[in-house]
Amino acid sequence: MFKFQLNAITAVKALVWTAVRRMEVKDVPTPTPQPGWVLMRVRYVGVCGSDVGGFLGKNELRRPPLIMGHEFTGVVEEVGPGVSKDLIGRLFAVNPIIGCGHCRYCRSGLKNLCLMRKIIGIDYPGAYAEYVAVPADNLYPVSDPVRGALAEPLATSMRAVRLSGAGLGDSVLVIGAGPVGALAVKLLSIGGVKDVTVIDINRNRLEWAGRWGASSTLSVTGDEALKSLRETHPEGFDAVIDAVGSEDTRGLAINAVRRGGRVIFVGLHDNEVTIPGNLIVRSEIEIKGSFSYTDEDFLKAVRVLESGLLDPREGWVDIRPLERGQETFEELAGTETKYVKVMFNPGG
Ligand SMILES: [Zn+2]
Ligand SMILES: [Zn+2]
Repeated sequence: MFKFQLNAITAVKALVWTAVRRMEVKDVPTPTPQPGWVLMRVRYVGVCGSDVGGFLGKNELRRPPLIMGHEFTGVVEEVGPGVSKDLIGRLFAVNPIIGCGHCRYCRSGLKNLCLMRKIIGIDYPGAYAEYVAVPADNLYPVSDPVRGALAEPLATSMRAVRLSGAGLGDSVLVIGAGPVGALAVKLLSIGGVKDVTVIDINRNRLEWAGRWGASSTLSVTGDEALKSLRETHPEGFDAVIDAVGSEDTRGLAINAVRRGGRVIFVGLHDNEVTIPGNLIVRSEIEIKGSFSYTDEDFLKAVRVLESGLLDPREGWVDIRPLERGQETFEELAGTETKYVKVMFNPGG
């Protein structure tokens, strides 16, 4: 006698990155939750700049075919062995970073630096799909599915702002008014930093950064950018956050910071760039990378969102079906998008 079990959902719809500049909606097998994991029905999933970098073939961690998507909320539908059934039916935001739990970094709360680090949407299938499997330990209860999907980019931004050390009385330059940059402007301004300049080529995004507390917004590039910044801040900025990560923006960050100032690299646009090494030495510039977030950052981002800090229904978030994947990635790879954040709602 054969004994077999048919899963209620055998194939699910997913947006698959199949090749450079190519996104396709396909049927994929339903993920099965392994011990300690849960199966979630995805509610909302944000498109990250790093996913756009992947789409363009510029992110070495991502290899096609891949279901990306690491900024999401979902409802637990099924639990794997060893997971409490109480989670079923509840809404959560997911921290997509999975640490090994026992290396020196995991033990000191720096799961983002874990030597065996795995990320949902990079190393495991992500949330550009109707269903996704995630570890139960990575769930954070939230009350609003759209707002909850902002926890991941907000946590990234919170870490970059914190590592910049910027506080009252400091001048800060934020390069890039995409999600992480624009959210950094908001965080700096509610933290009492009044002198926040933000630079981007996309005027729509600059407008949001202006509403969120930037004291000055600039839409110029190259030498022109540095010239304008020197006019308002001749000595340079106390801190610069580069939320883009291209050769141009990394160079601009180092040239625009004051002597002895701090530059935070958080954007991941280009793998390798040339930067002015001697200037860094002679001006004693401090450069620090900021990668994703710790559990603590993620928890705080969830709290900040639950307190109502950001309203995703004001017009800066656009929500779309997975079928608009190709078009969405092309739009975000360009410079004209009207939105700070685009999300998919895979379940409709
Ligand atoms: Zn992200
Ligand atoms: Zn580890």
